[in-house]
Amino acid sequence: MIVAERKTIPEIVDIIKGHKNILVLGCGTCVTVCLAGGEREVSIMASALRIASRAQNLGFKVSELTIERQCDNIFIEQAAEAIEKADAVLSLGCGAGVQAIAERFAKKPVYAGLNTKFLGILEERGTWTEKCAQCGDCVLADYGGICPVTRCAKHLLNGPCGGSREDRCEVNPNRACAWQLIYKRLKDIGQLDRLEKISMPKQWGTSLSGGPRVIIREDHRI
Ligand code: SF4
Ligand code: SF4
Repeated sequence: MIVAERKTIPEIVDIIKGHKNILVLGCGTCVTVCLAGGEREVSIMASALRIASRAQNLGFKVSELTIERQCDNIFIEQAAEAIEKADAVLSLGCGAGVQAIAERFAKKPVYAGLNTKFLGILEERGTWTEKCAQCGDCVLADYGGICPVTRCAKHLLNGPCGGSREDRCEVNPNRACAWQLIYKRLKDIGQLDRLEKISMPKQWGTSLSGGPRVIIREDHRI
């Protein structure tokens, strides 16, 4: 899922000040699961902004709404009336959601209330970790399902850097060395021979380095 974190209230107040009617718009998918932009967080944000408005005499009113997905026009339509009534939208969706709303309502200011961080998983209660850097050419099969692109701090594809101590990463001792994990995993599944293969330099043209990516499925186009 996409993992995001809320911007601070002072940052957000600074972004929205000058508007009179603010719609705080949540998203019911990834950002709900990572506790950043779901219905509950929208309610907390709206309350905090109302308090800030009164305390600082900013004079804005705040309404709130959460839709199922901000990155999908079918669901965006459900928010159309509320968005039209507001002067500006504070989106608690991910960066894609914010931009989808802004594209659909071309004359409405739409602001991001979250910092979109990464594609990851809930590791344990209250802890999310990054698992995929969306390189566009997945090589997980070669590494026992552990991504060296994302989880090795040096993105090494042909073995460890040699700096690991007691299974910790040299760059950040709070993280496990990805290559320790890859070795153990390949050993556990009987595929250590995969490490004998030399991986050629990765082609980054499939990543964001090649500019924004588009997928076109001709079999789904009308
Ligand atoms: S190899 Fe690329 S697509 Fe696969 S998990 Fe790693 S970053 Fe993501
Ligand atoms: S210690 Fe391990 S995870 Fe850290 S940079 Fe070196 S090989 Fe990569």
